[in-house]
Amino acid sequence: METNAMKTLNLHLGTDGVAIITIDLPDRSMNVFTPTFVVELQVAVEEVLTNTRIHGAVLTSGKAGFIAGADLKDLVGAFDQGVDAVQASHRFDRENALMRRIETGGKPFIAALNGLALGGGLELALACHRRLLVDDPKAIVGLPEVTVGLLPAGGGTQRLPRLIGIEKALPLLIEGTSLKPAQALQLGVVDELVSAADLLERARRWVLDNPQVTQPWDVKGFRIPGGAGCLAPHATSSFQFGTTLAKATGAQNYPAKLAILSAVFEGTQLPMDKALAVEAKYFGTLLANPVARNLMRTMFINKGAADKLVRRPAGPAKSVVRKVGVVGAGMMGAGIAYVSAAAGVQVMLLDTSAEAAARGKDYSRRILDKAVERGTQTRDKADAILALIEPCSDYAAFDGCDLVIEAVFENRDVKATVINKTEAVLAPDAVFASNTSTLPITGLAENSKRPNQFIGLHFFSPVERMPLVEVIVGKQTSEQTIARALDFVGQLRKTPILVNDSPGFYTSRIFSTYTDEGMAMLAEGVNPALIENAARLASAATSPLAVTDEVSLDLQKSVIDQAHKDGLPAKFLRLHAKPVVELMNYLGRFGRKSGGGFYEFPQGGKKHLWQGMTDHFPRAAQQPDVDTVKDRLLYIQALETARCVEEGVLNDAADADLGSILGLGFPTWTGGTLSLIDTLGAQAFVVRCDQLADAFGERFRPSAWLRARAERGERFHPCNDAA
Ligand code: NAD
Repeated sequence: METNAMKTLNLHLGTDGVAIITIDLPDRSMNVFTPTFVVELQVAVEEVLTNTRIHGAVLTSGKAGFIAGADLKDLVGAFDQGVDAVQASHRFDRENALMRRIETGGKPFIAALNGLALGGGLELALACHRRLLVDDPKAIVGLPEVTVGLLPAGGGTQRLPRLIGIEKALPLLIEGTSLKPAQALQLGVVDELVSAADLLERARRWVLDNPQVTQPWDVKGFRIPGGAGCLAPHATSSFQFGTTLAKATGAQNYPAKLAILSAVFEGTQLPMDKALAVEAKYFGTLLANPVARNLMRTMFINKGAADKLVRRPAGPAKSVVRKVGVVGAGMMGAGIAYVSAAAGVQVMLLDTSAEAAARGKDYSRRILDKAVERGTQTRDKADAILALIEPCSDYAAFDGCDLVIEAVFENRDVKATVINKTEAVLAPDAVFASNTSTLPITGLAENSKRPNQFIGLHFFSPVERMPLVEVIVGKQTSEQTIARALDFVGQLRKTPILVNDSPGFYTSRIFSTYTDEGMAMLAEGVNPALIENAARLASAATSPLAVTDEVSLDLQKSVIDQAHKDGLPAKFLRLHAKPVVELMNYLGRFGRKSGGGFYEFPQGGKKHLWQGMTDHFPRAAQQPDVDTVKDRLLYIQALETARCVEEGVLNDAADADLGSILGLGFPTWTGGTLSLIDTLGAQAFVVRCDQLADAFGERFRPSAWLRARAERGERFHPCNDAA
């Protein structure tokens, strides 16, 4: 027996002549492709192929999973470094040569996948001559590169279709689907499911039993299962429908889907080595494109860091909420109660009467019953979650709560009463949080006897589906309270952003710039279908008029009226949207809840734009082009975000980007509001905003602060500094 230990892997040669290569990167919880690992794997593979005492090798991992894929932190900087498509296409030359060496070297290699194998991890396994997967539900396999704007560049677009056929491979590649073991076996992505205890022995045995192996695609006359090219029987459904689907789901903004279709279509008609070059060519175009940089940075690196509570003050000790009080069992309170109980926290759900509180608990019951029906939750677990929620109407129930969150009506007086009643029974060290969406936290905290333990926890609706929580820091909120609030958001497995107090905080403020721009265009005579479709073409999650109908126009009116009453500065008075909001209120068209707003909501039918809008908002003879409408909708949000940075509402660009995407549905391809400015270049952004200001109003005028930054060429995200 011999062992060759390197930094990232260990080659152990048994007396039977089978080499066990165990991948185990130091200081990492998961194995990922790093330059050192690739070099060491190359050394190990050459050792297997050239040492006559070695018959073949088993590739496995020393961690819970096999390999999680590429290290995105290595890739995210390519665009910022000015790497062009040709340079980017050579990024994985070394890895690809290594994988070709594994499959054509003449000795058997088998992947013993002891857990998750994603991206490059699965691609390495596909280059082996056989794949065994541990039969464990956590052991998912897949090629998720499309979700970060890339394609699998380690042969994934070529080996997977050659292994299971184009028809089955394309949906997996285009949607980035992760497969559970049974699905992976059924589709033929892996050859066998094996228990963890038998995995290595079975793999070792296979090497000994199969001394001569060749990949099927390296055998002369190989034909892809189901055929390839435009004459294959499946070509119409695979490629034509695939292209249509990619276009319908935003291919104009997300180039990876069409690039995958092209790489598969072209590459599968060529021999393997040429096919890999085709894949590399398309990969280069994607890596050198800002969309991939934006998606990697915001949706993976920065989201991952936020989920790990990167913004938590380091001083205070880690805290756990065991019992939470929720005041107000309406739409938001009921949702907050559900997500808390689902995270194992005991919940006291209080409303003005026990019946109202019980109705709030019924919300959780309905969610859980549906989950049991669908088979995603067991009855026992569902009952256990429900049992954690105790409806009540007496504040004495808050005795022993670590945290109380109020979600009562958006009214200062009602909230003041609730704060007083809660604090009368709350333990001295407990935290009080408000779920207000608009009322400044510092003002609400004036009703509190301990404003340092007062904070905003702004959830989004529906709470169980929306991943974001905006944590709002009041003037007197202590570091300890911030830490405890963030710990609680972590307990709920939601993504927090940290925002300083200001009217509308961050997300509500940006949200109203979006809806108001839609309404302003309507007032100018822009065709409402053009407004709504421009938002869809930009891949926004909602369109401005439709989402205003959802949040209701009477609520918009009360927010605007309150802003006037509070004497807020003109920029918060929403003057360009106010006439539309008032007219719609006058007409009794409040949105979905009143059966009609900008849209009609026919009973049992599909909602559609209200035809009567033309009578009240006559169409202008000259309509803007769609790009102008798109720019107005996106730029106004980006500009307002920059103002939030200027005013100190936001301290961190990642918070801005994550808040805009996860809370408001700002298009993910942009990377978020501030990434959009960085991508365009601040100078170009300022020029375009000036044009929009000249044409449509001073709200688009960039501040002196932003102009100065643009002149200095300053970015919100420092170059290559992703996390
Ligand atoms: P809602 O009207 O659905 O529910 C409010 C609940 O509070 C009702 O059940 C009511 O009976 C109860 N309540 C009122 N006064 C009370 C009191 N004195 N004591 C106990 N309970 C009382 O309202 P909602 O939509 O759930 O909004 C609640 C809060 O959450 C508001 O501050 C709102 O701004 C904020 N918010 C709402 C949304 C949203 O999308 N609806 C999103 C984020 C934040």
